[in-house]
Amino acid sequence: MQFVSTRGGKQKVKGAEAIVKGLADNGGLFVPEKFPAVAAEEMQAMLSMSYPERAAFILKKYLDEYDEKQLLAACEEAYSRFEGPDPAPLVKIDDGVYILELFHGPTCAFKDMALTLLPYLLKKGCEICGIKQKVLILTATSGDTGKAALEGFKDADGIKIMVFYPNDGVSKMQKLQMCTQDGSNVNVVAVKGNFDDCQTAVKAIFNSPECAAALREKGYILSSANSINFGRLAPQIVYYFSAYLDLVSSGQTEMGAQIDFCVPTGNFGNILAAYYAKRMGLPIRRLHCASNMNNILTDFLAKGEYDARRDFYKTTSPSMDILISSNLERLLFEVSGRDGALIAKRMEELKKNKVYSVTPEERARIAETFDGGWANEDEVVETVYDVFCDTGYTMDTHTGCAMKVAVDWFEKNKKDTTDMVVVATANPYKFPQDVLYAVTGNDVRDSFKGIKRLHAATAMKVPASLAGLKDMPVRFSAVVSADKMFGEVLAFVSE
Ligand SMILES: *Cc1c(COP(=O)(O)O)cnc(C)c1O
Repeated sequence: MQFVSTRGGKQKVKGAEAIVKGLADNGGLFVPEKFPAVAAEEMQAMLSMSYPERAAFILKKYLDEYDEKQLLAACEEAYSRFEGPDPAPLVKIDDGVYILELFHGPTCAFKDMALTLLPYLLKKGCEICGIKQKVLILTATSGDTGKAALEGFKDADGIKIMVFYPNDGVSKMQKLQMCTQDGSNVNVVAVKGNFDDCQTAVKAIFNSPECAAALREKGYILSSANSINFGRLAPQIVYYFSAYLDLVSSGQTEMGAQIDFCVPTGNFGNILAAYYAKRMGLPIRRLHCASNMNNILTDFLAKGEYDARRDFYKTTSPSMDILISSNLERLLFEVSGRDGALIAKRMEELKKNKVYSVTPEERARIAETFDGGWANEDEVVETVYDVFCDTGYTMDTHTGCAMKVAVDWFEKNKKDTTDMVVVATANPYKFPQDVLYAVTGNDVRDSFKGIKRLHAATAMKVPASLAGLKDMPVRFSAVVSADKMFGEVLAFVSE
């Protein structure tokens, strides 16, 4: 399988190179030249497979230059680091309503689904491409990617990883998770500003020939663990297939019947993976894109205009506090009829004027599959509370946004009998104070007290990786402005 850039041009690379490079030479994102199909017999065959087997099967379709046995072994190793027998269990909370739990990995957020596997994909990718230099992973995080990437890449040979996060834009728990990270090849730096400032500065480093030259001199090439990297996207496609297969094998859905997914969305990576699954033949009817108060995607889906000239809100679902959703570019590329020149123009407009519009035809094509909705802060609290009271299920604030959007859908479509799978992206203990407040009305200042009280209220198991943070020493405390980021990078590779 070859990959091309969303911004056109002649560059064509194999998956291995797309993963190593992260971004195409012209600043576009790598997309598969075509979507590989999953045939009906293959769906049948996957029914009896384990999660790692399903993962290797789907991944091999995109990454045919990777050795099949090794790929499977890597998937088995990655998902053995998850708690419990199933890395992506499906929980039924009502008739036709399910929750897909993607937070049982080492850092308690869905980012682990891909970031436990990315180190293998990247290392093997370097080998396939004959790359001899060391790799520097540079990542901007809205909270969860950073920790998952640090855990995935810590102490990996020939790789250094550096994470930038917005100083006031992540939760206390997220900050603590990153600043206490162990490993000899890791660095964590806070940046003054919000996630978009952070992501924009990291992208600028990636697109700068001067930065590349300076790093080359130190023996490094750059790669990314952000969701723009196809190596992040590919493992995310798997759990949409797996959830569907689980519904079928448990007799809750018939093979071939269509289902909906509702996805809490920030950078548009998770929900884009669902769209890729649909394009591969998974019977998905609609995809519900859920936002928090930073509801730029809701407006875009309603009006066809992407307008980032708006206030940025800090919410209780910080991993969705994003105004520039990078992976939307990949959807635009598909619905424009794969018109790279047009996408390049739009992204230029976005950079310059912070706004662009799509054509009525493109809008109609998006609307064939996507709906948008959002939840304000009170609605998140109400929803988490209501679900807890009605079903006993505790969800985190991000998942709460998605659940609110799903509830609104059923309010408007009372006769709809299509199964709805709401994607749960974080363990509630990752945001203990906010979830405690939603569930009990109790306000505590300290995160660990929050964990204790949330446990008392819900009896849900506390992940050891979060409880243990209390006694870990803080290793990283640097705070810099965006223009100083590359200086930090150079200092780190010079160590
Ligand atoms: C990253 C993240 C999201 C948003 O996912 P995208 O792929 O960026 O759309 C939602 N919830 C949580 C908990 C996350 O960590």
